[in-house]
Amino acid sequence: MRIEIPAHVAFIINTLERAGFEAYAVGGCVRDTLLNRVPEDWDITTSAVPRQVKQLFKRTVDTGIQHGTVTVLLEKSGYEVTTYRLDGEYEDARHPKDVTFTASLTEDLKRRDFTINAMAYSPKTGIVDEFHGMEDLQAGIIRAVGIAKERFTEDALRILRAVRFSAQLGFAIENETAKAMKEMAGQLSMISKERIQAELNKLLCSAHPEYFRRAYELGITAVIMPEFDRIMETPQRNRYHNLSVGEHTLETLRHIRGDHLLRWAMLLHDFGKPQAMLQDQDGTIHFYGHAKISAELARRIIRDLKFDNATLDSVTKLVLYHDFPFPVSKTGVRKALNCLGEELFLLLLEVCEADSKGKNSYAQRTYLPKLSDIKNYYQEIIKAGECVSLKELAINGKDLVEAGMKPGKEMGACLQRCLEAVLECPEKNTKEQLLALAKADIKG
Ligand code: ATP
Ligand code: MG
Repeated sequence: MRIEIPAHVAFIINTLERAGFEAYAVGGCVRDTLLNRVPEDWDITTSAVPRQVKQLFKRTVDTGIQHGTVTVLLEKSGYEVTTYRLDGEYEDARHPKDVTFTASLTEDLKRRDFTINAMAYSPKTGIVDEFHGMEDLQAGIIRAVGIAKERFTEDALRILRAVRFSAQLGFAIENETAKAMKEMAGQLSMISKERIQAELNKLLCSAHPEYFRRAYELGITAVIMPEFDRIMETPQRNRYHNLSVGEHTLETLRHIRGDHLLRWAMLLHDFGKPQAMLQDQDGTIHFYGHAKISAELARRIIRDLKFDNATLDSVTKLVLYHDFPFPVSKTGVRKALNCLGEELFLLLLEVCEADSKGKNSYAQRTYLPKLSDIKNYYQEIIKAGECVSLKELAINGKDLVEAGMKPGKEMGACLQRCLEAVLECPEKNTKEQLLALAKADIKG
């Protein structure tokens, strides 16, 4: 069987073969090509050791020499070329403590996580598929290579990777593999937060973010995100909901696009509900103030997972304001724009919409028209070029100094008061009116 491979990859394989080595495209790129998906990157596995690879190509980078990996640069692209290897005992990571090179492709494929990821291809040999990856690919099954329990003992991250691949591909997890995952899930506590983050992120941004439920069912979230188990166990009984908090959350994930800020905000938006839960005598359940608690939890969870500060800030804000606590009016929308900035405001509208769509039809009838009003107000505000930030205010610090105010803290407070007046009433955004407004401060 022949598959399409990029010219660069064919060139690398060919060069290695002509020098007397074996070389194959391997892993994710073979899997994705067979599925008609575009691979993220092309990895090559070879019998040549790093020193030999480096001799054959003009431009290389020592990406992980001790693990056998050299990056070959061709034009603007890089290709990881890794020597056939057996993995030794695992330490913390993707990188085992010691690595032994081998002359056998089969040995190299054996160390890989799932059958669908353990196929190799070269134009000369065709597909090498020692573990029936092709069958599993066709049947839509994630199955560990060899004995599942052993494979998860070597590297517990594979437990989470199984859920991630199932969510990306819409695949089932084979029974023995799933059983071993459940048994070994506790070992995930030994895995570094950075590696967990990368897999969780891919799972959440996948075609099936709702497969997060599997991570719960298999006891994975109990170890890496117990707050998710709490929302799965929290019922909602009120006018707007007929799903548990957790099931509602999974539903909202299906209604939002695959942007990582949006997906994380959706996952975390109701994490505060278990703590905020209050039950009336008639059995109705309320969650007053939950957005603030959710935002605190979101901040902690995102920080613990070692995300960058931009993600931390944006996700926390989206969670904090997911209930749209601003008045549904032009003034309210100007205040929201001032508070969030335009970019985040637009993301917030997506969050609000997905949140509504995860509720019952009564809630949707109530909230979706309001959201549509908010969008219209936003359009009008933008069209009219109304002021929504200090930057757009008709006066600045210099104007205040010229009018006789002493530079200092008071000045900032004065400008803020002017801005608040303008957010309420955009017509006031003229130098004349704002200086008149500031006069009291200047005199004082
Ligand atoms: P992606 O599309 O996300 O890049 P991928 O399958 O290429 O998916 P990578 O994490 O890039 O995944 O790994 C490349 C290949 O290396 C995998 O297909 C698999 O064969 C192997 N591999 C990666 N991580 C592990 C692991 N923890 N245990 C065993 N094999 C692994
Ligand atoms: Mg890859």
